[in-house]
Amino acid sequence: MKIAAVHTHLLEYRLAVPFESASMRFDRRAHVLVEIVCDDGTTGWGECLGPARPNAAVVAAYKPWLIGANPLETEKIWARLYNALRDQGQRGLAVTALSGIDIALWDIKGRHFGAPVSMLLGGRFREEVRAYATGSFKRDGVDRVADNATDAARYHSEGFHASKMKIGFGVKEDLAVIRAVREAVGPDMRLMVDANHGYDPLEAIKLGRKAAEYDIDWFEEPVVPEQLGAYREVRAKQPIPIAGGETWHSRWGMREPIETRAVDIIQPDLAGVGGFTEAKRVADMAALNGIRVVPHVWGTAVHIAAALQFMAAMVPNPVRVNPIEPILEFDRTENPFRQAVVKTPIEHVRGVVKIPDGPGLGIEINRDALAEFRMKDD
Ligand code: CA
Repeated sequence: MKIAAVHTHLLEYRLAVPFESASMRFDRRAHVLVEIVCDDGTTGWGECLGPARPNAAVVAAYKPWLIGANPLETEKIWARLYNALRDQGQRGLAVTALSGIDIALWDIKGRHFGAPVSMLLGGRFREEVRAYATGSFKRDGVDRVADNATDAARYHSEGFHASKMKIGFGVKEDLAVIRAVREAVGPDMRLMVDANHGYDPLEAIKLGRKAAEYDIDWFEEPVVPEQLGAYREVRAKQPIPIAGGETWHSRWGMREPIETRAVDIIQPDLAGVGGFTEAKRVADMAALNGIRVVPHVWGTAVHIAAALQFMAAMVPNPVRVNPIEPILEFDRTENPFRQAVVKTPIEHVRGVVKIPDGPGLGIEINRDALAEFRMKDD
């Protein structure tokens, strides 16, 4: 069995209402899927976190090391690709592109052996996970406080047990949003805040101290990801647990935040950290150090399916009668191709998502949607 072809599919949708996180403005949704085809016809799918076109370019750059390789040898391929760009790579696009490739290879491996990826990773501890709603960006032309409260109340009524709101737009306004959301959902819903590294350490500490009274589960990406000392300072000087990790790539990028306890909760992204191959190592490293793992997810159903396969196989830490269960980040913002790219959408029922149990990622791609949402000039 050999790899015969590697393709990327650039997808795009222009938003009716643009929105912003603290660090980025979105006027469209754009994601890239990776398709790897083998000489026996077996096809696997993956997805890369981050900008679509640059990721596709790096996937294409890896092709000479992929064509002709045995797709089942995921460790060998990972090591070879990482080493190919190591001297100028080590993180960023070099690893996000490798992540999409690794996910597609594990999909192929699962299809070849007729088993879901979660079985190949060691077995399924769970058949479903609770999801938390991610939304509440700053949308153009609306009152942010009221908009966030309305969103959160809707997630609550839809059955979600938890939701995450975007902050990092200024401490005073952010506190007004957090207060309004807590009032809208009542005391029982878990709430998280995500600053998308929009604060400096003094702002983050001030926000954390004042927001703690609203019972916040975690404070995500308080400061820029390069400043691990600032992460540790924010963690020490305010009471809300600190989360982060979506921009830290590979075991080497994850080692310092985990070993120096810069975070309470580490958020490896399957499509960013290095695929299944690397995420498993990161989860093991987190378990060694007593750091909780909640995978980051932002993309299409391919990415969600990869996260679900990984979460199915996550070993409880600690193992106990009623273990701490992983929760799925479930993006609720506008993206019509998120679920259209698969034949069976991965949806929630009252905030709970079933983990597919078919071979590989457990999904089938809808090529009509790839054509419908194909990026212009692609
Ligand atoms: Ca985030």
